Amino acid sequence: MNIYEKFHRTFSGSNQNTFNVCNKCGGACEHNKIGTLLPGEKEYMAKKLGMSLSEFKLKYLDVLEMDDGTLIHVLKLGELCPFLNTETELCECRDFKPVICKIYPVVFTVESGKVKFSIDDWCQLSRKKVCRNYFESVIPLLYRLPVPVEWFRHVVSYDDLYFDYDQLRESRKGKSRYAVFTLKELLNFQKEELACHEIETYEPETGRMELYEIKVTSPNIDFCSEIEEPTF
Ligand code: SF4
Ligand code: SF4
Repeated sequence: MNIYEKFHRTFSGSNQNTFNVCNKCGGACEHNKIGTLLPGEKEYMAKKLGMSLSEFKLKYLDVLEMDDGTLIHVLKLGELCPFLNTETELCECRDFKPVICKIYPVVFTVESGKVKFSIDDWCQLSRKKVCRNYFESVIPLLYRLPVPVEWFRHVVSYDDLYFDYDQLRESRKGKSRYAVFTLKELLNFQKEELACHEIETYEPETGRMELYEIKVTSPNIDFCSEIEEPTF
């Protein structure tokens, strides 16, 4: 069985516990980020969609060229994720979404030549013990994926940053639809975090109102709007 098929069958990702938290948060992790595919994941996703690899790349992907020439495939730059249905707010590749989307708030660093997975304390899911435990349970599976440490080291160089989609879109002019961006070029389009937004929500677990702090890069995000289901 394909390693990604096995991964998705073993770890189902979002569930009702996480939906409730993400509904309150409003999808803060979706804005101004880059969606990266693991090595071999584009072939798996194209097959799930019944598309040829070249069709899949043209419709959904771009490429990042690292300083040593390594190519990393990412969801199209400069747009909302091409799998996000803007009417329903649903992910259209839900059962075979990129592993890095599915595992968030699990994030990774490379320390002393080894990959270290941990939970991002910034995400509201990390504050609920049940959600935290659930996502921590995927970490042993991640260590079993045959992904070289060098690949993780490359992704760490941009994965935590925020990017200006308007500038990225502008820079696509003259490039192919399946565009290649160098890492240096990408890093020119970083966006600073603008502000911390505070929201107050009722916590059924504690019976109290609690204040959440959310870092944002756009003043236009409406944190009061309800979304049907989270899209991570
Ligand atoms: S995964 Fe975390 S940051 Fe993203 S929408 Fe859910 S709670 Fe918010
Ligand atoms: S979860 Fe789906 S819609 Fe959201 S960023 Fe990942 S692939 Fe796109």
